[in-house]
Amino acid sequence: MRLSVLSSGSSGNATYMETDSGGLLVDAGLARRRIETLLARIGRSLTDVEAVLLTHGHADHTCGVRSLVRDCGIEVFAAPGVGDSFGANTISPGEAFGIGGLTATFFEVPHDSLTYGVRVSGGGSTVAMATDLGEAGVEVLRYMRGADAAVLEANHDPDWLRRGPYSASLKRRISSKRGHLSNRQAAEAAVALAPHGLKDLVLAHLSKTNNSPMRACGTVQGALREAGHGGVRVRAAIAGHPTPWIEAGTPLPVSEHVYRYGELGAAGQLFGIE
Ligand SMILES: [Zn+2]
Ligand SMILES: [Zn+2]
Repeated sequence: MRLSVLSSGSSGNATYMETDSGGLLVDAGLARRRIETLLARIGRSLTDVEAVLLTHGHADHTCGVRSLVRDCGIEVFAAPGVGDSFGANTISPGEAFGIGGLTATFFEVPHDSLTYGVRVSGGGSTVAMATDLGEAGVEVLRYMRGADAAVLEANHDPDWLRRGPYSASLKRRISSKRGHLSNRQAAEAAVALAPHGLKDLVLAHLSKTNNSPMRACGTVQGALREAGHGGVRVRAAIAGHPTPWIEAGTPLPVSEHVYRYGELGAAGQLFGIE
């Protein structure tokens, strides 16, 4: 399976995933023409899109859906309470459903609207995706664990948000448990997922005001390196520019080892390698 995050952030979200037997979009929060343009940048068109999976009803994830349904006849899939106004096929969270060669499962995440992450498998690999969530708790991590590639929100740097220009109430909303994930929270989640086969991590839904790709990647990569998982490929998705294709499951180029200072062993070694 391969994927590209076409665009990410409060100005609009859409991610394309495919196997050789077909593709789908997770969210369509941009005008149809804009989605067409972004797909063309990765060599695809709307005819490659068999379905749209919706994570939640916010406009930055749904504003292109109506046109995709009406003009292109693309099917919509969503968990209960998310896609009713788009005539979506309703799928219970935790229930696996198939689209072309892909199998998807929604799982609930905490946000200020009913919101779901999605785990998609196909072609022998798995991608887990969660943006727009206030915290990545045990349940969320349980669904994301074992994924070869993850798309995870890294919305803001907590210090930048605190010192930034937003109103006190908006700052409270963003940093609440039903708001948006910070770089620090994303780093903690990444460290929890890394030992379970994570190879590619795309940081998504970055705030233009309270974050930067360098800041987000630096925080997460630093935490991964410190935990002995510096080989995980980390990149940030931004608005209006598709990420390069990510082949889920591509082995890590270097196997990183954790060196532990230990007792002198029988062979006189000072360091043990895990
Ligand atoms: Zn959003
Ligand atoms: Zn949202």
